[in-house]
Amino acid sequence: MIISRAATLRGKFVLPKWKKPARLLSSTFCRTIFMSRPAMSMAEEKEVKITGLHLRGTEDEPLFENRVAKSHLPRALTSENAIDLLRSIDAFLFDCDGVLWKGNNLIDGVPEALEALRSMGKKLLFVTNDSTKSRRQSAHKFHALGLDVRQEEIFSSSFAAAMYLKLNNFPHDKKVYVIGEEGILEELELAGYTSIGGPEDGKKTIQLRPNFLFEHDKNVCYSLYLPGCLFIATNRDTVGHFTGVQEWPAAGCMVAAICESVQKEPIIVGKPSTFMMDFLLERYQIDTSKMCMIGDRLDTDILFGKNAGCKTLLVLSGHTTLSRLMDPLNSIQPDYYTDIVSDIISLCAE
Ligand SMILES: [Mg+2]
Repeated sequence: MIISRAATLRGKFVLPKWKKPARLLSSTFCRTIFMSRPAMSMAEEKEVKITGLHLRGTEDEPLFENRVAKSHLPRALTSENAIDLLRSIDAFLFDCDGVLWKGNNLIDGVPEALEALRSMGKKLLFVTNDSTKSRRQSAHKFHALGLDVRQEEIFSSSFAAAMYLKLNNFPHDKKVYVIGEEGILEELELAGYTSIGGPEDGKKTIQLRPNFLFEHDKNVCYSLYLPGCLFIATNRDTVGHFTGVQEWPAAGCMVAAICESVQKEPIIVGKPSTFMMDFLLERYQIDTSKMCMIGDRLDTDILFGKNAGCKTLLVLSGHTTLSRLMDPLNSIQPDYYTDIVSDIISLCAE
């Protein structure tokens, strides 16, 4: 039986054996629960209700969300463990927004940190859920901010969407309707696919009032209900930074609206899904125990790294605050956390 992540968070389960549930649920969220639970006899088996992110034991059991959190508290990056981390890691995977920059503002020390890591012979890869840009367009942003990054080192969710279709032999004579930006159209074209929709549809008008005007392509709206139509989401991020100081609704908001409308769950190709990681591992043949994922979001970046068995480092320069990280209800714990990404280098120099 396979339970989707959404069902895991919302549902109610009766677990038959505490020591053998890993095959039921694959998310790190769940593995954290199972591994932290002490071994129990059959007579002690309990029913556990999972409602939202609240985990409760039965009345004679202490609240076990507290035990989960305490047993997996992340460690602050220090001069000692930063050196150990650098020695043990061959490849660093970076999220971008909130880690390297916020909007168009570079975060302090990023160019120097990337240069230092390269000089140590570390492989650097940049994994972003930003699907508004193609890899070429993302490389342009890196260069505009003074970061020396090659296009081949960038893995965007727009690229992942195109690769998903290609690796699953999606017929080239079929069309792809895009609710999104130019970056997805460009990656689809590079992969040999014809797309419709995209930014052009942004010019269409919807007015909800008496005698309203609703411009839409009737074929596109209908197709999502057809059994054979793939519904692919580049990511489900709830917010993003379009400027250095403002958070705006991101792709996840539109995905949620469509999910409700068509009563269908999408195939996610960006973080935290395993598709992008599998693609990277196939291409670079890197041992995941020698990789470190650095990100500012727990539910995408950190979960993405943990699902693959990578070391994980949360930076507090973006989406996640220290209080949100330390909240007893938070079940996604990185190995380490620190303020900004350049701490990896500066702490080693202390
Ligand atoms: Mg981010």
